Amino acid sequence: MKFVRKKPHFALDLAEKRSAFIEKACSALTSSLDLNVTLNQAASIGIPDLADWCIVDLLLEDQQTLYQPVIAHSDPAHVERVRELRRKFPPVLGTLQGVWSVIQNQKSVILPVAGEQWAMTAPAAEHRAILMSLDIRSIMLVPLIARGVAIGSLTLATSESGRNFNASDLSMAEALGRIAALAIDNSRLYTKSQRAIQLRDEFLTVASHELSTPMTSLRLQLPILNRYLTGNLPFKLSDEQLKSIIHNSDLQLARLAQLVQELLDISRINSGKPLTLDLSLFDLVDLAIEVRSRFEFEAKKQGCEILIHAKEKVIGRWDRSRLDQVIVNLISNALKYAPGKPVEISISPQSDHVVLTVRDFGIGIALEDQVRIFKKFERAVSARQYGGLGLGLAITESIVHLHGGRISVESQEGQGALFKVDLPTNVMSRAPR
Ligand code: ADP
Repeated sequence: MKFVRKKPHFALDLAEKRSAFIEKACSALTSSLDLNVTLNQAASIGIPDLADWCIVDLLLEDQQTLYQPVIAHSDPAHVERVRELRRKFPPVLGTLQGVWSVIQNQKSVILPVAGEQWAMTAPAAEHRAILMSLDIRSIMLVPLIARGVAIGSLTLATSESGRNFNASDLSMAEALGRIAALAIDNSRLYTKSQRAIQLRDEFLTVASHELSTPMTSLRLQLPILNRYLTGNLPFKLSDEQLKSIIHNSDLQLARLAQLVQELLDISRINSGKPLTLDLSLFDLVDLAIEVRSRFEFEAKKQGCEILIHAKEKVIGRWDRSRLDQVIVNLISNALKYAPGKPVEISISPQSDHVVLTVRDFGIGIALEDQVRIFKKFERAVSARQYGGLGLGLAITESIVHLHGGRISVESQEGQGALFKVDLPTNVMSRAPR
């Protein structure tokens, strides 16, 4: 007869409890792709099965800022007190204890007995007073890790239940943390892919509209020239009118060329083929003056004067046609988003780099949009009001990075925008970042 070793009763209980807990967590956390639902599910599993408190800290994309989408406890007044605590005394990056250390070390922390002694370690009196009033007995912090990267942390604590956590609780909290991190990551990826699909669909609508606008204009104007030249036009055209038709057609062709260039560049960047640089020595001021001359007609049409402030030549080793594209993008945006106002370009050499700025006095860009506008298809204006593919800044940033430089924007809504390009003057042939 085969001898089967039976598990001791207490071990069986623990194992069963653990597997039931994990099963519950799995089914609850995989029930929705909505991030808020997922987060609330994580809290509802933590409480009351494991703890009296559940706090989820998540990192924003900048990896420097934490926010708390979940602070859960059965008493809303307690929740408000913790919210206030986090507002007044947010976890400090670089500290050896607490949320940040758990995130940075990707290791859990357990404090079986917290109590008054733990509350007294808080540096500020008000901080200590709030912690004392919460009567925290025991705490566990586990990292939320998805695809090897810490995305935040899960804090579980006890108070009124009077329980003290032990190693088995920690192992369950870690299991919950792993499942929750995966579910949060899935929700975020899903939201991101939905956004990308939405942006692509919007882009297709905008792109077809953008391409057809200059073509329609050309289709209307070129036959007039043709009929004028063949003597079939029933009215006379003055030299001024002729010039205007030719300039306008030129402008529409330039617009078409710019759009097609943007599409080619972005598809190259998308397919993983980097843009390449063809380096030569030239004067950046000379290039800016040349680009401005090409904008003469459009600037006049928009009621803008383009001013260039530069005290001396600024010679460097760059790709002339790519920097031409950078200046074209920044000027055309300034003319589009700041009609009737001057556009100021300044070029100032520093020791081993040069700073080129393009300032306008137009609609400006809200703070929350200033990072995303450098991503492809991202726009901070309505397509109905302003044309554009939302690609210019993404390509501009790629070109600037390829030169080893940086681009940034300073702006306030309604106060104009200042785009600043910082370029090293002696660019070596380099691979993209
Ligand atoms: P597009 O102008 O074709 O939309 P860009 O990539 O050049 O695409 O710019 C992205 C977004 O950034 C624009 O849609 C607009 O919301 C904002 N933007 C860019 N330049 C300016 C500017 N000078 N003033 C205000 N908003 C700007």
